[in-house]
Amino acid sequence: MIKRIYKFGGASVKDAEAVRNLAQIVGQHKDEDILLVVSAMGKTTNMLEKVLADFREHDGNLGMEALHEVISYHDSIIQGLFGENANPEFGENIAGLFIELWEKLQKTDVPYDYQYDQTVCYGELISTSIIQEYLSKCEVPTRWLDARKYVITDIEPTFRAANPDWDETRLKISKLNDEHIRGIVCLTQGFIGGTADGKHSVTLGREGSDFTAAIFANCLDAEEVTIWKDVDGLLNADPKRFADTVKIPHIPYSEAIELAFYGASIIHPKTIKPLQNKGIVLKVQSFLRPDHNPTIIDGNHQKNDESIPSFIVKDNQTLVSISPRDYSFMDEHNLKTIFEVCADLNIHANMIQTSALMLSFCFDSDKTKLKQMMAYLTETFSIKYNEGLTLFTIRHYREGLERDFIKDKKILVKQGSRSTLQFVLS
Ligand code: ASP
Ligand code: MG
Repeated sequence: MIKRIYKFGGASVKDAEAVRNLAQIVGQHKDEDILLVVSAMGKTTNMLEKVLADFREHDGNLGMEALHEVISYHDSIIQGLFGENANPEFGENIAGLFIELWEKLQKTDVPYDYQYDQTVCYGELISTSIIQEYLSKCEVPTRWLDARKYVITDIEPTFRAANPDWDETRLKISKLNDEHIRGIVCLTQGFIGGTADGKHSVTLGREGSDFTAAIFANCLDAEEVTIWKDVDGLLNADPKRFADTVKIPHIPYSEAIELAFYGASIIHPKTIKPLQNKGIVLKVQSFLRPDHNPTIIDGNHQKNDESIPSFIVKDNQTLVSISPRDYSFMDEHNLKTIFEVCADLNIHANMIQTSALMLSFCFDSDKTKLKQMMAYLTETFSIKYNEGLTLFTIRHYREGLERDFIKDKKILVKQGSRSTLQFVLS
């Protein structure tokens, strides 16, 4: 039985030294029945997005230049890990993956989302191939699994935001428990999956590797998932924006879902449910200081530390204010019409406020979706919008905590409950 899932994100494999650190952590735990889920190295996914854009929007030369950057980035990591002594077979394997990628980049006469998934998935395929080779050099035997054969999506996948077909996925993944041999570490890719016919790759949405870890954990009935991070656990604010952050030692699943919902970026929002459903413990632990205690997220509500307020900032928000053209009330019928359009367009409201004559809400800026929404609603409603805003949320709010953050900003909306205070700021 596989008991533990370890997820290593891009930052934890961003250069040769980081990979060596990963190998040391994994080596120490190799007999503990673990499966590794690993992301693309460093900012590779961003780089591949650029490569694809260049191939589609410009001529192939610009695309090739961008692709060469990705190749030389990985080459430098390979050099750092193996020097001149890389196994030739391994070199051929990596070159083969880059050739496949290059071939898929040529086929630009398909929808963007589809080609995105067929190409961007190589970030993870290449990263896990390098890591497998290095672990084997460190005498940590691994079994490399192609996640596209395990994370199976629904029949008509939404490319770039695929959802697993849980029955099919469980069927494939649960077999790994029977095949598992203690001491052999299973190694697979985060973020990517495949269609049931095995013909197409899909991705689960940016930052989706946490979700992959949760999918494997759920289907394997694992005991715990550890997300290895460059911070000491779940902090009460982003240390890049706030001074004096503190670690939250223990929170229940429900609180983690709330934090992810408001935009805390440390855990992908879809990650918690599959773990909560099976009571699988989630740990957030530092790969730089693996001896420090992790944050623990589980079903224990007694340990919800409400004395620690959390500060969550979501940039790049669009605020829309919608009112009926005939000056009727913003009643249930009007709300239904508006939210039906939002649901159809996959617009997720991060903050909602209603009054007698108006509905306001903000969502992650997306010009295409905004235009589509306006086209649907404009006959019945008048719509105003503001872009480039910030949504600021405080969980476990206490008087005055907002002051420093909002002091030089303009408040467009303020809304509070007993536990949560939110601002839309410009
Ligand atoms: N490599 C993917 C991304 O950068 C998935 C992940 O890291 O979770 O979005
Ligand atoms: Mg990541």
